[in-house]
Order: sequence, then C-alpha cells, then structure tokens
Amino acid sequence: MQPLIGMDLADLRTLLPPGEPAFRAQQIYDALYSRRVRTLAEIPNLPRPLRQHLESSCIPGHLRQDARYQSADGTRRYLLGLADSKSVEAVFMPEDSRDTLCISTQVGCPVDCKFCLTALMGLERNLTAGEIAGQVLHLAGDNGLWAHQKRINVVMMGQGEPLLNLDQVLKATRLLCDPQGLNVSPRRITLSTSGLIPKIAEIAASEVRPRLAVSLNASTEEQRRELMPVTRKYHLADLLETCRAYPLRSWEKLTFEYVLLKGVNDTDADARRVVRLLARINCKVNLIALNPGPGIPFETPGPERVTAFQAILRNSFPAFIRRPRGLDIFAACGQLKRMESGLVELPPPPS
Ligand code: SAH
Ligand code: SF4
Repeated sequence: MQPLIGMDLADLRTLLPPGEPAFRAQQIYDALYSRRVRTLAEIPNLPRPLRQHLESSCIPGHLRQDARYQSADGTRRYLLGLADSKSVEAVFMPEDSRDTLCISTQVGCPVDCKFCLTALMGLERNLTAGEIAGQVLHLAGDNGLWAHQKRINVVMMGQGEPLLNLDQVLKATRLLCDPQGLNVSPRRITLSTSGLIPKIAEIAASEVRPRLAVSLNASTEEQRRELMPVTRKYHLADLLETCRAYPLRSWEKLTFEYVLLKGVNDTDADARRVVRLLARINCKVNLIALNPGPGIPFETPGPERVTAFQAILRNSFPAFIRRPRGLDIFAACGQLKRMESGLVELPPPPS
C-alpha cells in the first residue's frame, strides 16, 4: 500500500485513473495537507468509485505513535512508528513566543560525531518526505498547534544528517511550506548539517529551502577531525569558504552551532579562534553545553565557562546559549537514541 502523505500534486495526479479530471488531485491534496483528514472517507467531495479505487492501493500514511515521554520542563519526546517496523524520534518544545518541533531526517546517523548519542546507532535508513513531513503533522496535531500556526517552528536537528537525504528533505520542505497546504514559512524551518560541502551548494540552488545551520564544534582543523571524522573529507577551511559564499536571503543569517566539551574545545583561546574563523560571515552562534549520555567520553563545562566563551564571541557576532530541553527524558540535542528505561511515559491518547 502506498502512503499518500509525502505526495505532491504531481504524484497525486499519477494515481488518478484515466478519465478523472485533474482537479481531483487538488481535492486530495487539500484534504491531506490543508484540512489534515485522517481517512479518505473524510473527503466528502470525492466520488465513491474513485475513493474505493484509491483505498485499494493507498493508505493515508500517518505515523504511528509508539511512545510519548513528558519532561518536567514541558518538552515531549515522541517515538513514532514507521511502516517497516522501524521507529524515529521527534521532540516538541513549547516556548513563550513559539513552539519548536525538532524532527529527524534519517533513522540513526552514519556521520559518527564523537559526542553524539545518535551516532552510536549507525544509519538504519533514510526517511521519506512523507515520514519527515509526517512528524510535523503528528506533533502539531497532538499538541493542538494548527490553531496557532504562526507559532510553529521546525528544526531538522533530530536523528540523522539531513544533507545525506537532501532530495527527500527538500521535498518535505516544499510540502511544509506550500501556502496552499501546511503553510509553514521557510523562515521558520532550519536545517542543521555537520558540513557536507557539495550538498551545501545544492541546497543553496533550491528555490524553496530552509534556513541553514552548520555544526562547527571545533576551533581548529585537527580538533574538528578528532570530534567529527567527516572533517577528514570536508576540511574546515573549505567548509568556511563555502559558508562565506552561501547566498543568504535578505532576512537571513547563517547559524553556527558549537557543542562545548569541557577541557577540549571550551577555552578562551578556542573562542578567540572561532571569532577569527567566522570573520566576514553574516552569522550568529548557538552554544550548546554537552548533553551527556552513556558511552559519550566527554564532560559538560560549568555554566561560568560557557558564559565566558559566549562573552568573547559576543564582541563580534550574536552568540546565544541553547538551554537544554527535555534532558530528563533524553530529548535534548544529541540524545536521540530511542532511550526507554526509567522515563515517564504518557498514556496513549484515546482512540
Ligand atoms: N546531524 C545534524 C543535525 C542533528 S544534530 C548536525 O550534526 O548538525 C543537532 C545538533 O546537536 C548539532 O549541532 C550537534 O552538534 C549537536 N549535538 C550532537 N550531540 C550533542 C550532545 N551530546 N550535546 C549537545 N549537542 C549535541
Ligand atoms: Fe549525525 Fe549530527 Fe549526531 Fe553528527 S551530531 S552523528 S551528524 S546526528
């Protein structure tokens, strides 16, 4: 059975039997993404023979909620089941002025950063556009966010390296951003990458694209090679050159993320080197003190070290400290590895 969620208008047209008018595809598209129906029976203007034809080969394709964990700070981590019995994680973070949905682009991740729990899973598979957009549909629906659509903020910072699955990521972005469909502004979608240089050029060339965030995480080539083996192929100097040439839109700044590891990359000298590396890039920096986890051989610096690092950066560009969300339920950055034991699980929603 083919899932409908993830299909664009052109895909839906190919499902119509000969003789059906093309506007039927638009009706299905509206129902899926604008009205967000759960079943084909909820599309009243669809003739019954066409509905039965579709039902014989297609399913709506919503993700299944396998578990939902509630943090003391309001964050919720979701384990969402896929059609092939694999599952993927997504996180809902309510804030004062917006609601952030952190979604995954792959099951696991092959990139092998030494501070990241997801890396310990390896790569299980890429997600489809439907599975990527489906996470937003599920979390926004479960938390009643569609009534306040403008508050929705999406970050592709869950499991996976989005640029290793760029076609599906961009297709999901087009579905999310379509004003006739889910209508999330591209200003409110951010993709974070470990820095796959050729793919950054590809994303730059695409018409509908999210904001770009690059995980820097080190202040020298050698340090970055140790922490992020991907640097052996994609050198830091070339990455920064690509960032300098990246065609930002008028409203956009590039974001750099920097995970602070105690005694490894968190000194004043590191901060001064970061300032030099990012010179002449229109950017801001998000600092993330390491979120620890079993099997991660690093420690978290104290808050005064993090603030001192931020102070040096702030002389040159905006630098923020990312507050960890959902640490108690393994929902924070780099912690998504399907942890289950010892957590508060919410009961399943009434069906
Ligand atoms: N694969 C992409 C997006 C997912 S990771 C990327 O690497 O950019 C999202 C962010 O979490 C990245 O900036 C990454 O550096 C950071 N991160 C990974 N592990 C972390 C950890 N243990 N503590 C804090 N941040 C972490
Ligand atoms: Fe993959 Fe990002 Fe984790 Fe690196 S930090 S292993 S790229 S998810």
